[in-house]
Amino acid sequence: MVLSKRDYYEVLGVERQATDQQIKSAYRKLALKFHPDRNPGDTKAEEAFKEAAQAYAVLADEQKRGLYDRFGHAGVNAAGPGAGGFDPTIFRDFSDIFAGLGDTFGFGDLFGGRRRRGGPQRGSDLRYDLEISFDESAEGTETAIVVPREETCDTCTGTGASPGTTAETCGQCRGTGQLRYQQGFLTVARPCSTCRGTGKTIAKPCATCRGAGRISRARKLTVKIPAGIATGQQMRLTGEGEHGTAGGPPGDLYVVVHVPEHPFFHREEDDLYCELPIHFPTLALGGTVKVPTLKSREELHIPAGTQPGARFRLRGKGMPNVSGRGHGDLHVIARVAVPKKLTREQKHLLEELARTMPVQAEDGSGTEEKPFFERMKDMFT
Ligand SMILES: [Zn+2]
Ligand SMILES: [Zn+2]
Repeated sequence: MVLSKRDYYEVLGVERQATDQQIKSAYRKLALKFHPDRNPGDTKAEEAFKEAAQAYAVLADEQKRGLYDRFGHAGVNAAGPGAGGFDPTIFRDFSDIFAGLGDTFGFGDLFGGRRRRGGPQRGSDLRYDLEISFDESAEGTETAIVVPREETCDTCTGTGASPGTTAETCGQCRGTGQLRYQQGFLTVARPCSTCRGTGKTIAKPCATCRGAGRISRARKLTVKIPAGIATGQQMRLTGEGEHGTAGGPPGDLYVVVHVPEHPFFHREEDDLYCELPIHFPTLALGGTVKVPTLKSREELHIPAGTQPGARFRLRGKGMPNVSGRGHGDLHVIARVAVPKKLTREQKHLLEELARTMPVQAEDGSGTEEKPFFERMKDMFT
């Protein structure tokens, strides 16, 4: 008796133009649904599982798919050993098929075995990246943030069962949440896939959370940012992470602060650095300049003969310490301000000044006067 085979595209429930990704995802769903672990002793499920695996083996292979598209089952049945029948090689990339299932179905931890059955689990920690201005980091601020997070469903109080009904003990694992099977010499325990390791099955799932017991919600929180916080520092909001399961405690929320660079101040620890352009006469003659600080302007005395690059320290005018231990310092680095335009009078005065200045070294290394002999040599070469 020859059984007519179902069309492979029909088996996977995809269009003939389906992409590789669509084929893979359709197969994943079927493999999960009909997996022998979930349907022990069910021969129909086993057949469906094999049929899907066979269809996938052909459609996931570019060459085989091409043959199948042109010649149908005959095209791939004659394609060598294993063709036509159930191809065990498909299981080689089975782990690949199941990798990432957690992302799709929301129970990734189960396959890794991290989440233990039923018992209370602490909710995940969350991270929130918050950008604040430089001024806000200096003064401290209070800001509202909206954090999407998983919370316990209010409708079913997290049971996942429709109100008035209860979850029942899973028949597959008899409520243990684990299935044991033999692998070589080893007995391996794996979370029960029927009940997703919870030990319970839900006949009438809660309509609000579709049986998950949890729901995604955007939660608005007010965050107090202490003065002096630096970029990359984080604050922990205890208990504001995702809700735990089965009565487990919630995770924490970490707010990671980002502060953009200030155009004038550069921060190192609690100290601030800035470069201050000062007119040449002030540097040469000495005088007083005004330095912008975080809160106001401070007067700074410049001694006569100050060189560019000279540093001055204004104590306590830096950033506040985030732990409340005073303030850092402000370091002012002297630069020369060179006017781009000169009035007639300024030009005249500068020319007069220039006439009195010693000849400058050729390499531009400064205004040191060269010895007489050197200057003579320069003049005649
Ligand atoms: Zn619910
Ligand atoms: Zn179970």
